[in-house]
This record gives sequence, C-alpha cells and structure tokens, in this order.
Amino acid sequence: MAVHNKYPILFSPLDLGFTKIKNRALMGSMHTGLEEIENGFERMAAYFAERARGGVGMIITGGIAPNAEGGMGAKLSNAEEVEQHRLVTDAVHAADPETKICMQILHMGPLARNDSPVAPSAIRSRIASKTPRELDEAGIEKQIADMVNCAVCAQKAGYDGVEMIGSAGYLLSTFLVEKTNQRTDKWGGSYENRMRFPVEVMRRIREAVGPNFILIFRIAAMDMLQGGMSRDEIIELAKKIENVGVNIISTHFTWHEAAVPTIATMVPRAAFTQVTGRLRKELNIPMITSNRINMPEVAEEVLRRGDADIVSMARPMLADADLVNKAFEGREDEINTCIACNQACLDHTFNGMEVSCLVNPRACHETILNYEPTEAQKKIAVVGAGPAGLAYAEVAARRGHSVTIYDAAPEIGGQFNLAKRIPGKEEFYETIRYFNKMIEKRGIELHLNTKATTDMLERAGYDKVIVATGISPRIPDVEGITHPKVISYIDAITGVKPVGKTVAIMGAGGIGFDVAENIMHAGKSAALDVDIFAREWGIDFENHPRGGVTGVEPVVARADRDVTLLQRKTSPVGRGLGKTTGWTHRISLARRGVKMINGVEYLKVDDDGLHLRISDQYEILDVDTIIVCAGQLPLRTLYDELIERGVDAELVGGAYEAMELDAKRAINQASYLAAAV
Ligand code: FAD
Ligand code: NAP
Ligand code: SF4
Repeated sequence: MAVHNKYPILFSPLDLGFTKIKNRALMGSMHTGLEEIENGFERMAAYFAERARGGVGMIITGGIAPNAEGGMGAKLSNAEEVEQHRLVTDAVHAADPETKICMQILHMGPLARNDSPVAPSAIRSRIASKTPRELDEAGIEKQIADMVNCAVCAQKAGYDGVEMIGSAGYLLSTFLVEKTNQRTDKWGGSYENRMRFPVEVMRRIREAVGPNFILIFRIAAMDMLQGGMSRDEIIELAKKIENVGVNIISTHFTWHEAAVPTIATMVPRAAFTQVTGRLRKELNIPMITSNRINMPEVAEEVLRRGDADIVSMARPMLADADLVNKAFEGREDEINTCIACNQACLDHTFNGMEVSCLVNPRACHETILNYEPTEAQKKIAVVGAGPAGLAYAEVAARRGHSVTIYDAAPEIGGQFNLAKRIPGKEEFYETIRYFNKMIEKRGIELHLNTKATTDMLERAGYDKVIVATGISPRIPDVEGITHPKVISYIDAITGVKPVGKTVAIMGAGGIGFDVAENIMHAGKSAALDVDIFAREWGIDFENHPRGGVTGVEPVVARADRDVTLLQRKTSPVGRGLGKTTGWTHRISLARRGVKMINGVEYLKVDDDGLHLRISDQYEILDVDTIIVCAGQLPLRTLYDELIERGVDAELVGGAYEAMELDAKRAINQASYLAAAV
C-alpha cells in the first residue's frame, strides 16, 4: 500500500494479527439517543454507514447496556436484540467491508438511570440521583455473566469487536477506587482485589468470544479526581488488562463528576494525548487516544509524537461524515470542523433529546434531512452571511439552485465574527473558513460590503429572497441608557469603544458571560496553549499526582479590572448556559473574580454610575463602563418592505426569531428550509 504523503501514519493500516484496521482514524463512542426510539436502529444504520463511506477505519457505537441494571434503556442480551443490531453491522459492512465496527458495552453502575442501580458499595455519586444497591457475591457474578453474554451477542450480531468502558465513574471503574469500593471481600480492600472485577470481566469475555474478535478496554488514564487513581495504579491495571488478551487499550481522561473540562471548546486541541503517550510506553498493545482532536493534521501530529496508535474522533464525525476521505484527498479546507460547543450533541444527551450537530443538522438525521438535487432551479438571493444565511446558501446551491449572497459587512460570518474573538472560542474561525470554501466550491456569488435594499433585490428579479439579516442588540428601557458610560457588547468585543477598569455588565446570558470572559482575560488564550490550560485548571500532566489534580491549585491570569455581571431574574446567574459547559464558564469567571448578582432592577445610569435595586436595597455601582448584553431583537425591516412589494421572501435565523436564538437553531432552520426549496 502506498504511503500517504501528508498523513503517512494516519493512513497506515494497523495489524492486529487476526485482522487489520485500514487506517488509524476511529469514530469514538457517542450516545445518540437513537438506540431508544422507534426506527432508531434503521436511523443508526444510515448514520454509521455514512461514516463508513466517509473513510473511517473503525467505529465504536454508543454504549449498550448488558442488562436492565446497566442502565441506559438500550441493552443487548437476547436473540431479538441481536437482530436489531444486525441492521447496523450489515449496513456498515455493506458500505465498506473493510470498516470495522465495535459495540461499546456500557454498564453505568451507580450512574445508571433506573430504579435499582448497582455498585460495589452503597455510595451515591455526587452526580447520581440515587444511592446504588451494594452487590453481593452472586450479584457480582451475575453482572460479569451478563457482560460476557452481551459480548457474545455482539459477536452474533456481526460486530467486529466490543469496547468495554472501564472509566468515567461507571461500574467497572467504581471497583477500582476506595472512595466507591469499601468492600472487605475478594472484590475490595487491597488494590489487587479492587482490580479483580474489571480484569475478570475482560478475561471471561476473551474466553467466551475466542481469539478472533477485537477487544478494547477503555481506561481512565487520568481520572481528574482529587485523590483519584495514581499513575502506578493505572499502569498496573493496564498491564493486567493486556495480559488477559485485550487487543487495544483506549484512554479516557475523566470521571463525569470531575471538575475539569476535557472536551469543551476551551480545551486546547489534543491537550490530553500526552497522558496516553506516557502510558503507551509501558504497554505492548496498541492504544487509542482522544479528546479535542478535530482535524487531520492534529491527528497525524499526535500519532507522530508517539502518543497513540489510533486517534479517536467522535464529535468531529458528527460534524462531518466525510472527514477522513476529505483528509485523504487533500480537501481539508472542505472539512466542516467540530467546534466543540456540545450544544447539539452532549447537551442533547444530558437533556434526554436526540443528538445532532450544530454545524451539521443531518447528523443522526440521515434518513430525515437530505439534500437532493433540485428539479426546478431557482434564482435565490440570500441577504445576510451569518450562520443562517450561509447554511441556507450552501444547501440550496449544493442542490443546484443559483444563489447570490449579500452582506453589509466586509467578511462573512455574521455574529460568529464576534464569537471567534472570545478566548476559548477560537474554533469558530473554522466554521467561517468552511463556509468561505463552500461559497467557492458551490459557485455562490458573494457580494460583501453590500447592504441589500428592496429596490436592488426587486430589480435583480430573484425568484426568492431569503432574509437572514440577523438581529439588533436590545437597548433596555432604562433612564440614562444613552449616557457615554454605556456601550454595546459589539463595541466592547471589537474594541471600538474602550472598556474601563470598573465595569457592570447588564445581562448574564451567553453573550454577557462571553463579554466578561473577554474583558477579564489576560495573556494568551488557554485554548491555544496546553501549559496555560493546565495551570488554569490545576492539572499536573508531568508528575501525575493522584487523579492528575490532587493538591494542584489552579492559577488563572486575569485582567486588572473589577467586573460585576448582573441579571434581573432571581435564578442563579448562568443557569441558562449549556448543560455540559455552563459550569466551566461559571468557574472560569469566578476564578477571575467576576461578581455575579441576580434579582436586580436597573433604575438609571448617570455620572455616578449604574443605579440598582437589589432586594429592596438601593445601590449605585460606581463604574467606568456599563456594557449592555440584554438580548436581541429581530432585524426585519427589509423583509417587511419586500413582502409589501409582493416579493417572495422568507425569514430565517435571528431575523425570524431572536428570542433564545443561537447558531444551532439558525443553522438547523436554514438547512431544513433550503432542503425543501
Ligand atoms: P447574524 O449572525 O446576526 O448574521 C446576520 C448578517 O446579516 C450579518 O452578517 C449582517 O451584516 C447581515 N445584514 C443585516 N442586514 C443586512 C442587509 N440589509 N444587507 C446585507 N447584509 C445584512 N451561538 C451559539 O450557538 N453558540 C455560541 O457559542 C455563540 N456564541 C456567541 C458569542 C457572541 C459573542 C455572540 C455575539 C453570539 C454568539 N452566538 C452563539 C450567537 C450566534 O452567533 C447567533 O445566534 C447567530 O450568529 C445568528 O445567526 P444569523 O445568521 O441569524 O444572524
Ligand atoms: P440571552 O441569553 O437571551 O440573554 C439576555 C440577557 O439579557 C439575560 O440575562 C436577560 O436576563 C437580560 N435581558 C433580557 N431583556 C432585558 C431587558 N429588557 N433589560 C435588561 N436585561 C434584559 O441572549 P444573549 O446573551 O444576547 O445571547 C444571544 C444568543 O446567543 C443566546 O440565545 C445564546 O444561546 C447564544 N449564545 C450562546 C453562547 C454559548 O456559549 N452557547 C454564547 C453566547 C451566545 P434578565 O431578563 O434576567 O436580566
Ligand atoms: Fe461538535 Fe458542537 Fe457538533 Fe457537538 S454540536 S459535534 S460539539 S460542533
């Protein structure tokens, strides 16, 4: 096989002896919610098959429980369930017989969302809703037997292997640490005893499935817990797992209850792979690494450094099913890059919703949202090159319509041009790069620095005008709001107006938080530097104290400012932020000394500052600058004029509805509309 000139390691096969994986790109396990819904397996088959056609070497499915106690609803334990899974394995192997697909076995243990979660000891996790039942000896044997049966069923269903999750605070990992395992029998006490359960599970699975079936064990290579596992304990476990016939060890870097972000967009790319690299030196079997590896050059660099043998990209495969083929063919600038926002994937999982992707609404909706070639080409104008207008234009042009974009700004991207300036949101540049490339590839005509007017659009004779003009910032009805101390979030982020040393931020939504982060930040963005990130979150990658964090104090760089973030609601400040990322923003601002106050009433602004009422107390915040982040209103003047003139016009994105608008909704709405035009 010829060596790929740009990604020689990524595109080299991995020989496991009895089988070969065609390249080093793995689609990591993600729960999609499809497992539990009607026609879910048909949809999953289409979703995975599309990724197999996209060139990925191996796929790991979302977690499937071995039994009812295991916890996620979807389980695999009998012949009927085997047949459902056949749909998935057949579809993947038909799409590309060389692509491997392994099923993840997930026993959630104390984190299981059911009536009777089980665990080594009856100790409730900080993030669980119930105290688990302590397993007795027979119960332990049952769990092992069920996991073995699950692996055998996966083999019967046509999977090439299974991945066992032995990390994250799920059942296997809770046997390993004293905090969750206080048993005194042979399954607890000494570390030798605490390792027994995961090792025994893997030993018996190997015995049952024979030698020619891929076995992967997912280990917490650094669990990010105060008092968590030591490096030596992890090495010892990994060696034992290797010795019972596991083919590959995959690394995870956290328990779900840990207070360190490991995949959010503020985490530098490939920040954690060095941990896999250190463990890899101790073992003889291939290793998988993961977390924030979203572009092929990052993957190749991780492999070149010797951090791993295989690179797992999970969310990036939601964002772009063809990522691997695009890399192979040198079309990297066409990759729709995962921006690690979690908004349509993990946040949906934790809210019990179907998973999709902010930048790719087709993800997990492959049988529902399709971009078929049009039979009746239309001449379409799209006014506004924010996420909504861009998504509409791309899909419509891809389908064969003739599309022209107008934007008053000098560059495409709309509000993403503000978002990308926030430290920790640098990935938003990638979405703008992607759309610039798509404009070129799809032959879309682009007019920048051009404010579209009704006359102009009417004269050009478009069949349809898409009004994606976005929003205008809301100006609260407060006395003195035009005082020179008051500036908009746009002026604050772009630096058009200076921000003083003492600041009040009116409004604590996503933008209020981003503005606070922006003005309290000092030095290089932690998202661009692993050492700064490690300092800010109190991680010691070098010495690996217990959990990687024990005794390590976070040290943040902060601007010399005094900032107060305000909201009228009485709910905790930041409650409306993303389910899986909001806590990181709250911690980040608190560590930078930002004061957060809820339940305020804005009374007036004058030379003395911002006058407030907080719980019947009057207060004046004597600040230099007041930044307004009080939500947004739709910008629809153009639309109203077009409709009045009888032009076929349609609203999309913020122009359609500004309330609770985000890019996820803007892109989703635009994509569905353009798929139907
Ligand atoms: P916009 O992005 O506002 O684009 C509208 C475009 O229309 C602009 O480019 C404007 O120049 C153009 N325009 C207006 N009138 C005319 C005219 N007459 N002629 C020509 N052009 C015109 N969302 C998320 O989902 N996640 C985030 O993490 C996130 N972070 C954010 C951070 C910041 C700092 C900001 C400001 C926003 C953030 N958002 C985020 C919100 C997200 O950017 C918006 O929801 C999204 O941009 C809305 O898309 P849109 O296309 O409807 O409008
Ligand atoms: P937002 O989330 O709706 O927040 C607006 C804030 O302004 C709220 O704190 C609101 O709270 C306050 N407010 C509303 N009306 C007001 C009024 N009349 N007077 C004073 N205060 C008022 O909107 P946003 O912060 O402008 O963000 C826009 C969108 O971008 C959001 O929907 C968000 O999803 C998206 N975004 C997302 C992220 C992310 O990280 N996911 C980041 C940035 C932006 P009170 O009414 O309680 O004061
Ligand atoms: Fe990545 Fe965001 Fe899409 Fe999730 S929703 S896959 S984090 S871009």
